[in-house]
Amino acid sequence: MHRKRWNAVHVLFELHPCSPLLVKSGTLSPNPSLPDMQFVRTQGPQGEEVFIPGSSLKGVFRSFTERVLRTFGEERLACDPLGKESCGRKKEVEDAAKQGNSALVYRESCLACKMYGHTRLRGRLSFTDAFPEGSWKTEIRYGVAISRLTGAVAVGPFDMEVLVEGHFVGSLLLENFEVWQLGLLGLAVRSLNEGLTRVGFGKSRGFGEVRMRVREMSLEMAKVAGLSPGELWGAGAFAGDAERKAYGLRSDDRLKGIPEGAPRDLGVYVRTVYGPQEGQEVLERAAECLGSFFGG
Ligand SMILES: [Zn+2]
Repeated sequence: MHRKRWNAVHVLFELHPCSPLLVKSGTLSPNPSLPDMQFVRTQGPQGEEVFIPGSSLKGVFRSFTERVLRTFGEERLACDPLGKESCGRKKEVEDAAKQGNSALVYRESCLACKMYGHTRLRGRLSFTDAFPEGSWKTEIRYGVAISRLTGAVAVGPFDMEVLVEGHFVGSLLLENFEVWQLGLLGLAVRSLNEGLTRVGFGKSRGFGEVRMRVREMSLEMAKVAGLSPGELWGAGAFAGDAERKAYGLRSDDRLKGIPEGAPRDLGVYVRTVYGPQEGQEVLERAAECLGSFFGG
């Protein structure tokens, strides 16, 4: 499916923390004046700055998606990526990968892996790193970990660097997707915005609550006969019969009634650019369709 490009959604987003935020650096800093738990940094045009790695965001979205899929009651919808039974280790997947049959690898993978990938399958959803826009400020907080067994201090005290001011801008790309994948993305965004999903360290301390705002969404679809305004086609609607069967896609992979916007004809593609409100509406519409997808 990656040899073709049927559809793509690109979202430029803002992340506004509304509680202290700490996305930890994986490496220890050689500088002893820095806190034990430091916010991850990189060298930006303005010097050293904090940032949120795309891999952290993808992790947050993936684990939310896995939880939702398991809630629908079936383990087969989301494997344990670190477990022995994970899709990347399934015999059917290994055999298909050896034969170079990427359609079969996709078909045999669980829904979470279809969206986020595994060792033998490239995911459909990717995030860029998110960088601060404008000024930002961090503070040092002190913490201890209490042993559940004895009630005494188990670890610490340690110091943590938390972000208390500033917001981030990043982008995500969902490519060659099925409509349910856009729906799960919409659901994850809603869950962040309701404070049910958090980012980074110290969730039990109330850290990591953020709001994700769509700044701009661009929807690109292959220009094919039958595509009407206000309609979004998933990969299954674009695929031919043989491809649909090979990948296990649905022919009714369509989302109707999305904002029409002002589509631009780019020759082989049609691109619609949405502002914040309309972009959010597309995500919501896709999330609302999940019920019918899961047979609810
Ligand atoms: Zn899986």
